[in-house]
Amino acid sequence: MFDIQKIREDFPILQREVYGRPLVYLDNAATTQKPLCVLDAMRDEYLNVNANVHRGVHYLSQQATDLHEAARETVRAFINARKTEEIVFTRGTTEAINLVASSFCESQMQPGDEILVTEMEHHSNIVSWQLQAMKRGIVVKHLPITDDGLLDLENITNYLTPNTKIISIAHVSNVLGTINPVADIIRIAHERGIPVLIDAAQSAPHMKIDVQALDCDFLALSGHKMYGPTGIGVLYGKEEWLEKLPPYQGGGEMIDKVTWEKTTFERLPFKFEAGTPDYVATHGLATAIKYMEGIGLSNIEAHEKELTSYCMEQLQDIEGLTIYGPSPNTHHPSPIKDAVVSFNVGDIHHLDIGTLLDRLGIAVRTGHHCAQPLMDRLGISGTVRASFALYNTREEVDALVNGLRRVVQMF
Ligand code: PMP
Repeated sequence: MFDIQKIREDFPILQREVYGRPLVYLDNAATTQKPLCVLDAMRDEYLNVNANVHRGVHYLSQQATDLHEAARETVRAFINARKTEEIVFTRGTTEAINLVASSFCESQMQPGDEILVTEMEHHSNIVSWQLQAMKRGIVVKHLPITDDGLLDLENITNYLTPNTKIISIAHVSNVLGTINPVADIIRIAHERGIPVLIDAAQSAPHMKIDVQALDCDFLALSGHKMYGPTGIGVLYGKEEWLEKLPPYQGGGEMIDKVTWEKTTFERLPFKFEAGTPDYVATHGLATAIKYMEGIGLSNIEAHEKELTSYCMEQLQDIEGLTIYGPSPNTHHPSPIKDAVVSFNVGDIHHLDIGTLLDRLGIAVRTGHHCAQPLMDRLGISGTVRASFALYNTREEVDALVNGLRRVVQMF
């Protein structure tokens, strides 16, 4: 049963006031709040279990290792990977993409080879590749978007050449909320032997991900955007790809044998996990995943879809409002909008709107949302972005819309 009031009790921060007003937290695409069970699990681990993982023979180390490796199994099942060897813990989506960009470009790409991303990417899925392009003389190309904020799939084959070595795309845009047809893109790419990385930072919190059904080669996600702690994320990689790629960083945990002459590396996934992992955060992430599963991914998805549609409907009344990305007027046969609504009102600056909403207790994000090339495409400097999580309510959407009315009246 999806009992929103009960769910909200799991998140004490939602009871907070800011400026003497109830907090309306609509900045979930940036980061989500954490339920008590996640905080309790992490506190309990530090209080009762804490020891470094993998290396210790002693009791606590083994217990911490068990929790850490159980978390890997929870993540594996969550995204339906074949094996835990395919689950690499990283600091987040950004580090996961940088890992692939670095190891893939080093081992699989020659000067003149191409990477295809899209015009709606987060900087982490642009700059990671640009850094490699600068070093190695490879080229980053981008697939344009339509005026509705969708990818133009018919166009994609024009952007694929014999030199295209990898495609890296957001599953869901953090600005437009567009749900990209990643399964189709993967199919088209695989027909040409091109692997695909999916940036699932904005999809994993909102919908069931099945890496085997998608058949993606890599997938990246961040724990803090799905009710887990900060500083922990996941890189999924097909075993055959992870076997082929060289290590990303050197250090403890990732080696088999070290001598001055030659060093050999650990088996998967440890080859990519240099240094002490954040084993408390992995336990926190696993607890967050179980929390989401307890509520039910399909319940979460349905609730957030409903809120997103309700928000877009209610916003229509605001004079001068522009919604970026798919809107109620965009006709499409399949779901194309996730829990993100980005907008501007007339020529009022997004920062002014955000600042005034903040004074009313409403937390939204303003600015370019780490997607400056997308802002250039839209011809704007930024947007106001409201983004939803499983604990948001219709009343909070009403508060946003009423707040916006008040702000607009001031101008
Ligand atoms: N990709 C997308 C689509 C995102 O929304 C974000 C976070 N805003 C990232 C990547 C980067 O995630 P992180 O900062 O957690 O590494």
